[in-house]
Amino acid sequence: MIPVVALVGRPNVGKSTLFNRLTRTRDALVADFPGLTRDRKYGRAFLSGHEFIVVDTGGIDGTEEGIETKMAEQSLAAIEEADVVLFITDARAGLTAADQAIAQHLRAREKVTFVVANKVDGIDGDSASAEFWGLGLGEVYQMAAAHGRGVTQLIEHVLAPF
Ligand code: GDP
Ligand code: MG
Repeated sequence: MIPVVALVGRPNVGKSTLFNRLTRTRDALVADFPGLTRDRKYGRAFLSGHEFIVVDTGGIDGTEEGIETKMAEQSLAAIEEADVVLFITDARAGLTAADQAIAQHLRAREKVTFVVANKVDGIDGDSASAEFWGLGLGEVYQMAAAHGRGVTQLIEHVLAPF
């Protein structure tokens, strides 16, 4: 069985950037405006001897209306079908109410979840990611998806049981 890894989080935290790096394609649209990836996107990834399916999502911001509701539905569906969820947060933006709402959902679903603090390039990653421990989902993995920092270590942790 090939494990399915879903990338979940608020819009604009770097999910599609990570998807592209993992799948080495431009299939997931990366953009400066939040929410451009409106549907789930699937890609096949190979890293450190692991093969897995990675699922990109449009993002949840906790206050969904209109098109954003569709994106939230896609994210929730992606969570359901995943073996592992990578909950991506933005270390520069800090912890938000939307992050708390997503964390609450993930805790309730009892999904295997890894919290990732992205965008730690050029900042103090330890202090920027410390507050994400407050999400109650365990260890916080630091990453800079745009630069490939922390990606291999993260995937090795995440896929070790598979
Ligand atoms: P998504 O909405 O979660 O899919 O986010 P995107 O992947 O589209 O990225 C949103 C913005 O964050 C883009 O401008 C990316 O270039 C930027 N970004 C993504 N990863 C990083 C990172 O590691 N460091 C920095 N500084 N910016 C990043
Ligand atoms: Mg995206």
